[in-house]
Amino acid sequence: MPVLDTFSLAGRTALVTGATRGLGRAFARAVAEAGGDVVVHGRDASAAQEVKGEIEALGRTAHVVLGDLTERAAVEDVVARAVEATGGLDVLVNNAGACIHRPALEVTDEEWSHVIDTNLTALWRMSQAVGAHMVERGRGAIVNIGSISGMIVNRPQMQPAYNASKAAVHQLTKSLAAEWAPAGVRVNAVAPGYIKTDMSPVDEPQYRRQWIEDSAQQRYAMPEEVSPAVVFLASDAASFMSGTVLVVDGGYTLF
Ligand code: NDP
Repeated sequence: MPVLDTFSLAGRTALVTGATRGLGRAFARAVAEAGGDVVVHGRDASAAQEVKGEIEALGRTAHVVLGDLTERAAVEDVVARAVEATGGLDVLVNNAGACIHRPALEVTDEEWSHVIDTNLTALWRMSQAVGAHMVERGRGAIVNIGSISGMIVNRPQMQPAYNASKAAVHQLTKSLAAEWAPAGVRVNAVAPGYIKTDMSPVDEPQYRRQWIEDSAQQRYAMPEEVSPAVVFLASDAASFMSGTVLVVDGGYTLF
């Protein structure tokens, strides 16, 4: 098969969590641009419908499933409805996430739990529910969205729960990859650097020096510059990749 064809997601269906905004929205569009159909997940119903419209305008099929992934029942419901609507999931992009900036001594139990529940426990439950489906089918690809914050500690913001959750996502990726590889299911992660979204106030002057000027490329990126890595890991182009954490950070973690 010609190499460019291996990047195609034609005939595949991907569930993208947190696809209503930011990176997830770009990933949902990218899956469609690569020829795949999409299950658009989020909590914001009207934004999800907008994304559905964008995907249909690209000539692909889109379904919307809503739910707060910090609740186990909602995770099971989201996955059941996604499988029912599509007939089967080939790709899961675990993207939904949250961040709280607070020095360690000020973090409350509620804030800690909110970040860990959203970034780690929800991703674990989604992986378990969709992984069961993929293992049964004998194929599938899971792409977890980690972060360079799972590898280094960024300045000047204090994000103890976020950093811990993303480091755990990277290690969970490897654990699941090892367990499910024999069943034909690949699990990999993408670790983005600074990307302009609601979560990352990259234009605010107090972050410019540490986040932008100290980085190798001396800039941040828009979500569309991370999308190709997600499509790659979801596609047959990455058929021999399992348990990889692919860093997409403009060289930020070189220093
Ligand atoms: P945004 O804040 O822009 O978007 C977050 C998305 O996650 C939204 O679609 C939101 O849905 C969804 N979401 C949040 N909490 C829940 C929940 N409890 N249940 C269901 N959905 C939820 O963030 P980004 O696009 O910036 O981040 C996306 C991912 O990329 C995250 O995992 C983040 O940690 C990671 N990342 C981001 C970086 C950046 O610089 N932006 C860098 C490295 C990693 P809704 O709006 O519908 O509620």
